[in-house]
Amino acid sequence: MSDAKRLIVPIVGKVSPRERAELLQQRPVTIWLTGLSASGKSTLATELERRLVDARRPCYLLDGDNIRTGISRDLGFGPEDRHENIRRIAEVARLMNEAGLVAITAFISPYRADRAMARSVVGAERFIEVHVAAPLEVCEKRDPKGFYAKARRGEIAEFTGVSAPYEAPGAADLVIETAQASVESCVQRLFDAVMSKIRAA
Ligand code: ADP
Repeated sequence: MSDAKRLIVPIVGKVSPRERAELLQQRPVTIWLTGLSASGKSTLATELERRLVDARRPCYLLDGDNIRTGISRDLGFGPEDRHENIRRIAEVARLMNEAGLVAITAFISPYRADRAMARSVVGAERFIEVHVAAPLEVCEKRDPKGFYAKARRGEIAEFTGVSAPYEAPGAADLVIETAQASVESCVQRLFDAVMSKIRAA
């Protein structure tokens, strides 16, 4: 055990997770969206957050903007850094759940092993893996940020789907096929599924 670890003595809190869930009137879960770039994760995540707040459900969206520019700003996009990035996101989601919030995460999270690690960090009972699925050709055609074009020109290294793998979930808790349905109907499905999980407080 390291010296630093020996010096950590956990404080015994006086507020239980159950009390927090009662306070906020919900069962806190982590909605873990995974999928290729441009599959629709941010679109669905921001709409989901909007709808949950409209339904008076305390929640928070973790995405590239608030993670990569802050807590993970020292990390790159190689497999090891991606692994560490996912670990940090999972730890933050866990803290949010412990605070009673619904956490929504919108990251490609391409490696199956990393998502399994995230599930165990967050806790399997409150981890909901959602595969935001669309064929690579569709994502590449959408290319809202021009990333695929850049990756094809070799200007972005290790770009998922082009020069780095995406390992699709074998048994996601929910699969949303965004190439076959409107944003509105995908959001509705996601919202209904999430509400049925958090109502149980
Ligand atoms: P990601 O966050 O996965 O990189 P984005 O949400 O940024 O993806 O981009 C997805 C693009 O696909 C957006 O331009 C969005 O309008 C479009 N789109 C088309 N149909 C859907 C759908 N059913 N669900 C989500 N996005 C869709």
